[in-house]
Amino acid sequence: AKAQGSGRWEAHVPGSPDPAADRLVLLEQLRSAIRDGELRVHYQPRMALPGGGVSGVEALVRWQHPTRGLLQPDSFIDAAEESGVIRDLGAWVLTEAVGQAVRWDAAGVAPGLQMAVNVSARQLADTGLVARVAGVLARAGLPASRLVLEITETALMHDPESALTTLQALRSLGVLLAVDDFGTGYSSFTYLKQFPVDELKIDRSFVAGMTTDAGDRAIVASCVHLAHAMGLVAVAEGVESADERDALLALRCDQAQGYFFSRPVPADEVPFPATVPA
Ligand code: C2E
Ligand code: CA
Ligand code: CA
Ligand code: CA
Repeated sequence: AKAQGSGRWEAHVPGSPDPAADRLVLLEQLRSAIRDGELRVHYQPRMALPGGGVSGVEALVRWQHPTRGLLQPDSFIDAAEESGVIRDLGAWVLTEAVGQAVRWDAAGVAPGLQMAVNVSARQLADTGLVARVAGVLARAGLPASRLVLEITETALMHDPESALTTLQALRSLGVLLAVDDFGTGYSSFTYLKQFPVDELKIDRSFVAGMTTDAGDRAIVASCVHLAHAMGLVAVAEGVESADERDALLALRCDQAQGYFFSRPVPADEVPFPATVPA
C-alpha cells in the first residue's frame, strides 16, 4: 500500500490542479507514515521565568516525509483533524512523548520535568481518550502529574458541556490541563471558571506585540492577572526577544516558551542545564 501511495504522490505534486486529490494522497500517506515510523516529535522547552530553568517541554509533531523532507504540522494537522487520522496520530505522539519523559528520567537530565502534549478538538470528543491516556501512563510508568494536556480554547468551546465532563475525567487521573492559544477563542468566564484547568497559555499573537503595542501588553497583563486570580499558572508562548522576556517577568508571568529560549528540537538537542555551559 505504501509503494502504491508513494507512486501516486508523484502524480500529484503540491499545488497541482486538483487539491482534493492532493489531500487524499496526503492522508493515505499520513496513515502509512504513522505505521512506518515516519513521524517525529520535537520538543520545545518551557522556562520557569524567575529562575530561568527548563520546567517542561512541549511535544510538537513533525513528519519526516520520504520525498518532501521534514514537514511541519501546519501542512498535515488540519487534514488529520478533519479526516479523523488525528486519533492515531495523537495516540502515537502521546505514547512517544510519555516514553521520552521516562527516558529523560532514567538519564536524570531534568527531574520532575513536565511533558506537555497537544490534544485537538476531535481527540477531546473521542470517548476513548481518557482510557488511552490512563493506559499510556500506566504502561510507561509515568506519574499522571508529569503530563500536561494542552487544549485550545476553541476546542474547549466547541462543545463545552462534554468538554467539561472529559476534563473532569482527565483531572481525576491526575493529569494537568492547559488552555492553549488563550485569548484567541471565545471562551466565556462562565465556562472558564467551571473547567478544571491548571494553566493558561497566552497566545503568541499577543506576546509578539506586547513590547510595541499597548493593547497587546494590556491583554497579556490581563491574562496573567486572570490566571493568578483563578489560581492558575500563566504561560506565555512565542517569546522571541529578551525585551519580551523582561516584560513578562515584570508582569510576573510564571513560565515562557519561544524561539528566544529554544526552537522545538529533537529530544537529544533539548538544552537542559546539564548539557549547556553556564
Ligand atoms: P501550538 O500548540 O500553539 O504550538 C506552538 C507553535 O508555535 C509551534 O508550531 C511552535 O514551533 C511555534 N513557536 C514556538 N515558539 C515560537 C516563537 O517564538 N515564534 C513563533 N513564530 N512560533 C513559535 P508548530 O510546531 O509548527 O505547531 C503548530 C501547531 O500544530 C501547534 O500549535 C498545535 O496546534 C499543532 N500541533 C503540533 N503538534 C501536535 C500534536 O502532536 N497534536 C495535535 N493535536 N496538534 C499538534
Ligand atoms: Ca500547544
Ligand atoms: Ca499555543
Ligand atoms: Ca497555536
